[in-house]
Amino acid sequence: MTKRLYDLDSHQIEAQSIVLSCTPAGEQFDVVLDQTVFFPEGGGQPSDTGTLGGAAVLHVREEGGEIYHRVDRTLAVGASVTGVIDWTRRFDLMQQHTGEHLLSFSFFDLFQASNVGFHLALNYATIDFDKPVTREQIQEAELLANRFVWKNLTVQATFYDNEDVIRELPLRKHAEGLVPPIRVVHVDGADMCTCCAPHCYTTGEIGSIFVADASSYKGGTRITFFCGERALKLQRAQHDDLDAIARRFSCQREAALGAIKKLSDDYGALKKSERELAKSLNGYMSAEFLQAASSAGKYRVVAQLVTGVDGGRLKDLSQAACAEKTLTLLLSETDGRLSYVLATGVNFPIDVSELMPAVNAALGGKGGGRGTLAQGTAPSASGAKEALEQIRSYFVKRLCDTK
Ligand SMILES: [Zn+2]
Repeated sequence: MTKRLYDLDSHQIEAQSIVLSCTPAGEQFDVVLDQTVFFPEGGGQPSDTGTLGGAAVLHVREEGGEIYHRVDRTLAVGASVTGVIDWTRRFDLMQQHTGEHLLSFSFFDLFQASNVGFHLALNYATIDFDKPVTREQIQEAELLANRFVWKNLTVQATFYDNEDVIRELPLRKHAEGLVPPIRVVHVDGADMCTCCAPHCYTTGEIGSIFVADASSYKGGTRITFFCGERALKLQRAQHDDLDAIARRFSCQREAALGAIKKLSDDYGALKKSERELAKSLNGYMSAEFLQAASSAGKYRVVAQLVTGVDGGRLKDLSQAACAEKTLTLLLSETDGRLSYVLATGVNFPIDVSELMPAVNAALGGKGGGRGTLAQGTAPSASGAKEALEQIRSYFVKRLCDTK
């Protein structure tokens, strides 16, 4: 069985190993060594990567008690090879993982919230707690976890051959079904639990812990957190964003939130005022449209082309220009595109769904609706004026023939 050097020293980056087997796996190979510094995926932590005798180590897994290194080229059985882990990746993962111990312990110690799920990805990490926690509780636990960081506590792993001894330990979490020797990780003065992953030597190596998000999850809370360099990068990016916002408003960073709130309030007031103006304008325009309507027996046809009226307002305008026994078609050109609305007033004998196919065909657009309202769009507004006159003539003829 492979000797697990990472269990003995989490900061050993390199080791000389003998290749015990090398088995093809598709276009890649699975290598077993007599000893390894490569941690296989497990305990919520991704595997190490790196190099092994000139081959790239892409992934490492444990199967049936054996450790398999997935590499990109074959290695000679019996050869002595140097394995080197990607230390930047390993140290980052250890920072997150050790930070997770401190956060889990803090939430448990302060609020009896138990960690029931941990996911450590290459760009974020989450913990699921079994009960809801408030924003204030998260901040309190985050502060306590950081205080453990600042105390630079020692992190130690101990192997126990006897399950009964472990039951006597003040463990926060005891994974069931473990086969001795069982590894217990102890943060001096804080967390203690069974765990197989490599950790920082001391909590100071974590740097800092920052809880960025929290959401309800399966009756409890899922938090997303960042440690060490990840936390620094996140804070730098957010600080730069805040700087950019402040520059945009020509104000200090501290005043940016107030400036955004004022802008949002002003925008809301302007939109309200615009809606009222549009309503008044719709009244004037619809009166004009009705005056210019074509007669068609007992009915009237309004057909107009307008510019720069968006879809929502076009609908309101069409309905305002729809008197009794009136058929109204309004076209609006915006940025070369065409949108159109077909509407009918009360006591009108034809459902708009019967008339829309002819409108779509004449305008080269798509749309539909039924009853008294239909809407459509066309990719081009060229020739819309001529098409509108054709449609008007068609409507007039059709309505003259209608009793
Ligand atoms: Zn651990």
